[in-house]
Amino acid sequence: MSLPHRPDDGRSTVDRLADAWTAAIDSGSFVSIGRTELRALLGELAGRMVAVVDGYALPGTASEVGSALVAAHLTDPAALRSSLDVLTGHLVVPQAGAPPDGGPARIRRASAALNELSSGYARALQERTRTEQERISAAAFTARGVAEAARWASEARYGAVFEHAVIGISVSDVEGTVLEVNRSLCRMLGYRADELLGRSVFGFIHPDDDPDAWPRIAAMTAGEIDHVRLEKAYFRKDGLPVWTELVVSLIRGPDGAPQYLVAMVEDVTERHELQSRLQYQAEHDPLTGLPNRALFFHRLNRALEAGPDADGEVGVCYLDLDGFKEINDTLGHDAGDRLLHTVATRLHRSLGTEGHTVARMGGDEFVVLVEHCTGVDELVPLARRSLELIRAPLYLEGREIAVSASAGLVTHPRSGQRAERPDGAVELMKAADTTMYWAKRDGRDRFAVFDPGRHDHDVAVFELSGRMPAALDAGEFELDYQPLVRFRDGRVTGVEALARWRPPDGSRFGPDVFIPIAEQTGLIVPLGLYLLRRACRDAAAWPDPDLVLSVNVSGRQLREPDAVERIAAILSETGRAPSSVQLELTESDLMAAEGRPVEALQELSALGVRIAIDDFGTGWSNLAYLHRLPVDVLKLAGSFVTQGSASGAAGRDVDSPVILSAVIDLAHTLGLSAVAESVETAEQAHRLRELGCDVGQGWHLGEPVPAGQVPAMLDRPAPG
Ligand code: C2E
Ligand code: CA
Ligand code: CA
Repeated sequence: MSLPHRPDDGRSTVDRLADAWTAAIDSGSFVSIGRTELRALLGELAGRMVAVVDGYALPGTASEVGSALVAAHLTDPAALRSSLDVLTGHLVVPQAGAPPDGGPARIRRASAALNELSSGYARALQERTRTEQERISAAAFTARGVAEAARWASEARYGAVFEHAVIGISVSDVEGTVLEVNRSLCRMLGYRADELLGRSVFGFIHPDDDPDAWPRIAAMTAGEIDHVRLEKAYFRKDGLPVWTELVVSLIRGPDGAPQYLVAMVEDVTERHELQSRLQYQAEHDPLTGLPNRALFFHRLNRALEAGPDADGEVGVCYLDLDGFKEINDTLGHDAGDRLLHTVATRLHRSLGTEGHTVARMGGDEFVVLVEHCTGVDELVPLARRSLELIRAPLYLEGREIAVSASAGLVTHPRSGQRAERPDGAVELMKAADTTMYWAKRDGRDRFAVFDPGRHDHDVAVFELSGRMPAALDAGEFELDYQPLVRFRDGRVTGVEALARWRPPDGSRFGPDVFIPIAEQTGLIVPLGLYLLRRACRDAAAWPDPDLVLSVNVSGRQLREPDAVERIAAILSETGRAPSSVQLELTESDLMAAEGRPVEALQELSALGVRIAIDDFGTGWSNLAYLHRLPVDVLKLAGSFVTQGSASGAAGRDVDSPVILSAVIDLAHTLGLSAVAESVETAEQAHRLRELGCDVGQGWHLGEPVPAGQVPAMLDRPAPG
C-alpha cells in the first residue's frame, strides 16, 4: 500500500515547521516578543533543527536551540511543552500523507535531537536561575542595608520599599514571631497580613522540607551565620502548594546581637514544575512511559549502596524480546512500537505495581529491578510471570502475533555485604546480559540464572577463540593417530587422525574443547584443511601407502562451496591416493546435512574417498535417508561398547549384546563395514569379534600416538 502524497504547497519543511511552531507558542500567553520577531526567531531555530535531523548540523546544535529559547525568555513550561509537541509532530512522526522520509535512522536522530534540545533548555534555565539567585541574595544584602537605614533614617521610605517590593518579604524577631509581611508575600501565600502577623515563621518550615535547614537556621539565630538559602514548598491558605526560594538574613542590633530575621521569598513554582517535568522526561522512555536506562541505573546504584541493614540482595530480571527485529521488519515500526508499548504496560501493571522498577533499557530490552530480593527463589517466579505476560496473545495489524522473551536473572549482594560476584551496577548488568544470552542460546522463551562457573567457562572459551587464529598460523595444532585394527587378523588397516592443540606455554587442549569453538567461529574451515594437509604429509613418511588415513571433518566444512575442490587439491598436492583416505562425519552432522553437503559427499565418494559415519547411534538416523548417502563405514558410538547401549537414540537400555549385534547386522545389511570405538578391554574385543564386527578402535587396541610413532605401531604384534 502506498500512501497518497500530500500536494506540495510549495513551502519547505522548515517553513511549515516554523509556522506551526510560531502558532503553537503565540497562542500561549507567555510570549514577551512580537509575533514577527517570534516567527523570525523560530524560523531560524526550525532551520537548525531540520539540519540536525537531516544529519548535517554541527554537534551541539539542538542544545543551542534549547538555550536560544531560554535566551528569548520563552521560559514558561508551556512554551517548552508546545515546542516539543510541534517538533515531535514535524520531525519524528512523519506527517500524514508525507513520503516516508529517512526511515528509522532519521527518527532516531530526531528523538535524540529533542532530548538534546530539552537538556540544552534545562541547562540554560539552570544557568539563568543561578544568576537570578545571585540577584536575590544581592537584594537580601540591600534589604539589610535598607532595613538598617530605615532604623536610622526615614521610616516612610523603608516602608515604601518594603511594601511595594515584587519579592515577598517578612520580618520577624529572632524567636521567629512575624512582625511584618509585605503585599507580595501575602499574595503568594494567599493570606491577609493580619492572618500572618504574630505567627511563628518556623510554623511554615517543616523539618522534612530540607533536613539541613534547621541546623542552619539555628546557627543563624545564634548569630553564627548571616544568611540561609532554602528552596521549599508552602501550602497556601487555599491548600495549593507554592514552591519558593527564600533567603533569610540576620539583622543585628547596634551592639551586633541578632535582632531580626528578614526573609526574601520568591515564587518559583513554575520553574520548579518545569524542572520536575524535564527531570521526568530525562528519566522516562517517551514510547512506553517506563523509567529509562538512566533512572534504572540510578535506582540500581542506590539499591546496591544501601546500608548493611537493608534486607536481602539486589535482584535483576533482564528481558529481551525474541525475534523483535523480524516483527519490526515485517510489520513495520509502528507495529513494533505498539508491541513494545503493550509489553511495557503488561509488565508495569503486574510487576511495577508491586514496588519493583520495570524499566526499558532501550530497543526491545526491559528490566525488572527487585531492590529487596530474598534470592533466586524470588526471581524465578517473577521471571516466569514476566515471560507469561509477554507470551499472552497480542493483536497487531489485525492478526495475532506470538511474542516471547528470554530472561537473565542475577542477584547481587549490596556493597556493605560480602561480594563474591561481579561488583557494581555495570558489572551486574553485564552478567545479566550474558545470562540472558544463555537463555537465548538454550532455545529462547525461557530464563537462565547467572552461574559464575558457566560465566568463567564462557570467558575462557571467548579467550580461547580469540587465540585460535594465531595458533593456527603458528602451527600449534597437531595430530595424533590411533590404530584401526581388523578383528579377523589383528592387522592395523588404518589410523584415525585426532587433533590436538599444543601451545608453546605447555598447556594442552583436546578437540572436545576447541573443535566446537572453531565450528562456532568458522575457523573450522581453514583448520580442517590444515589438519587434512598435515595428516597427508605425516602419512607420506609411513611405510604402508595403503594404510587408511581416517580424518574427521565437520559438516560446516562441507558447506563451503569449494570444499571438494580444496580437499582434492590437498590429496594431489601431497600425493595421497583418494582410496586410502576416509572422511569421518558424525551422524548428527550428516543427518543435518541437506543440499550442498550431501552433494559434496557424493563428489568426494566419486573421487574414491571413503565416507564413515562417526558416533553412529547417538543421533536419530533416518535409515531410508542413510541408505541413499554414499557411506562406506559405520563407526558405532563408544557407548554401545562400554555401557552396553546407545546413550542418545534409544532413550532406554536394551540388553547390550542384542543391540550391538543388531547394529553390526544393520551395517552389513546396508553393505557397510562396522567399526567399534572405545574398545577398552580384551573381553570387549572378543565379544565384538564374535559378533562379526569388522574393525575395532580403542585403548585396548592402541592409544593415539604422535605421527613419528606410527611406523613402530604398525610393526607391533596385534593385541589379543
Ligand atoms: P571421535 O571422532 O569419536 O574420536 C574418538 C575419541 O575417542 C577420541 O577422543 C579418542 O582419543 C577417544 N578414544 C580412543 N580410544 C578410546 C577408548 O578406548 N575409550 C574411550 N573412552 N575413548 C577413546 P579425542 O581425541 O578427544 O576426540 C574427541 C572428538 O573430537 C572426536 O571424537 C572427534 O569428534 C573430534 N575431533 C578430533 N579430531 C578432530 C578433527 O581433526 N576434526 C574434527 N572436525 N573433529 C575432530
Ligand atoms: Ca572420529
Ligand atoms: Ca567417534
